[in-house]
Amino acid sequence: MKSPSRIKRAVSLEHLKRCPLCRAVNAASNPNCFVCGWKGEFEHEAGKVHEGLMEILESCPELLDVFDHEERRIGLFERFANFVRARFRRHRSLDLRA
Ligand SMILES: [Zn+2]
Repeated sequence: MKSPSRIKRAVSLEHLKRCPLCRAVNAASNPNCFVCGWKGEFEHEAGKVHEGLMEILESCPELLDVFDHEERRIGLFERFANFVRARFRRHRSLDLRA
């Protein structure tokens, strides 16, 4: 398996944030967490965001291969942001009101 540190160098972590409730990594532009719908403060520290990315890659290591194949055509961050946006869209239709 490739070194996870490669992701840290390639992804601009300032464009990402992590949900304090469910720990999902979100695009910084998402107003709500795409997983749980959280609307408050997010974690922006690079260490926390990187930790969240590593959790995603540990549960789905195939993503590293996707990044590698697409890296030349599209930037790694853009690829990841598209992945996050796609998941956000999928969850958008859920009624998250308590
Ligand atoms: Zn969340």
